[in-house]
Amino acid sequence: MSVWEKLAIVVASVAGMELFAWAAHRYIMHGWGWAWHRDHHEPHDRVLERNDLYAVVFGLGVMVLFLLGLFWQPVLWWVALGITVYGAIYTLVHDGIVHGRWFRWVPRRGYAKRLVQAHKLHHATVGKKGGVSFGFVWAPDPARLKAELKRQRASGLATVRAAAVD
Ligand SMILES: [Zn+2]
Ligand SMILES: [Zn+2]
Repeated sequence: MSVWEKLAIVVASVAGMELFAWAAHRYIMHGWGWAWHRDHHEPHDRVLERNDLYAVVFGLGVMVLFLLGLFWQPVLWWVALGITVYGAIYTLVHDGIVHGRWFRWVPRRGYAKRLVQAHKLHHATVGKKGGVSFGFVWAPDPARLKAELKRQRASGLATVRAAAVD
């Protein structure tokens, strides 16, 4: 593999992970996996969340992929690297910037601000039903998300915290 092929695989894996994360968040965490995700949506003062178990599971998965890459198909090693890069971005953005678990920094403008707003709006719904913005790095327009939340509230699809949209 050339260095460009390796780079392309890593970039594609990072992009693919955003899709995977969106789908897993939408259909697993807010579906049959809600029991592990729930405490991420509820106020608490513990350092760790049951939701962190997802990071452990995905971490073990990527370790297996690194091993498969090492002993079987080298391409998988580069895919695993892309997944790890996404994991690092996710940890920095979601746990760091949005939820302030490791440091405090509130972005006041630009894409970073939009990203925080989009994920805060994901946290605007109560319970697992409905909701918006299941991706993390891809941040839709907050105004559109608010309109969608209002629509979900009006149709009884979701319970929405009033402060978030009114
Ligand atoms: Zn969620
Ligand atoms: Zn969150």
